Amino acid sequence: MSGSSGRVAFIGLGHMGGPMAVNLAGAGHRVVGFDLAPEALAAAAAAGVETASSAIGAVADADVVITMLPAGRHVLALYREEGLLEAARPGTLFVDCSTIDVADARAAHEAAAAAGHRALDAPVSGGVTGAEAATLTFMAGGGAEEFARAEPLLSAMGKKAVHCGAAGAGQAAKICNNMILGVSMIAVSEAFVLAESLGLDHQALYDVASTASGQCWALTVNCPVPGPVPASPANRDYRPGFAAPLMAKDLGLAANALRSGGVHAPLGLKAAELYAAFAAGEGAELDFSAIVRTVRGAPADPTGPTDRTDPTEREQNGTTTP
Ligand code: NAD
Repeated sequence: MSGSSGRVAFIGLGHMGGPMAVNLAGAGHRVVGFDLAPEALAAAAAAGVETASSAIGAVADADVVITMLPAGRHVLALYREEGLLEAARPGTLFVDCSTIDVADARAAHEAAAAAGHRALDAPVSGGVTGAEAATLTFMAGGGAEEFARAEPLLSAMGKKAVHCGAAGAGQAAKICNNMILGVSMIAVSEAFVLAESLGLDHQALYDVASTASGQCWALTVNCPVPGPVPASPANRDYRPGFAAPLMAKDLGLAANALRSGGVHAPLGLKAAELYAAFAAGEGAELDFSAIVRTVRGAPADPTGPTDRTDPTEREQNGTTTP
């Protein structure tokens, strides 16, 4: 990849932004990064990213500013109150890769345009593994020209970039997709728990549903019970993977959009409620597929006494035929 996109400022070098900035620099782009957390800044510097001592310093000569921040309020505060838009040269392209409210994304586009800049919302799917391996999928919202300008940078950080439409369309695609995922993970979990109560083996349900109309990613890739899909987090005590608090966050954004749009979507709202409670409790550090435990009503500790009748544990102990 050439450095033809000029200088890139990268603000937010956390779990996702850090490796993304490293991949951009590794592809030959001149990247100047900044993060409020000194350890994130130091890790990026150690991996070959030039760093600045402030966000304003990072954007001074930038042609493109990429942000990868926790939430919409961080993006909007940086753009507006903290003076990032003012500090950038006119015509700078602001690409926000964070997952934020559609309304915040649109407000960010408006603020950038009012300051004489261009903007693109470009949230990602693929997680930390995808950020490290440069295999992320980007969902972009904004003008065709802005998308074309960002594309060489996106392709250095990911394997696919889809232009979804106008301002906010990238965020819209992200939350719609993750609403499907959250609802389907709960549905798959409920089906396995029903199977348990009916005396139907997990593997038997999997063998049928994975090649029948119940087939979906939550079943065939991230299967919430151990056994049928060896690589799924259920086989490693639900270590993420895609952490439940991130699913709770994305479903919260979907719920906001459902309410503000007056959309009737009881399953999406219920999934948001279930994941919010799960992420605030036993799911705080677990993969989102561990919600099967809430569905089953078992305690978090898999060795706990009430789990002795749990067929998943019998499988782990080799007492059932997988
Ligand atoms: P993170 O908390 O690891 O990183 C965010 C970074 O932003 C932190 O290092 C923080 O110090 C920094 N930051 C906050 N405010 C700042 C400011 N004003 N100036 C400079 N730096 C600032 O989070 P993450 O996991 O990297 O996620 C980033 C975004 O990507 C989120 O919106 C998240 O929803 C989204 N996302 C995450 C994943 C994932 O698997 N982690 C997957 C897809 C999307």
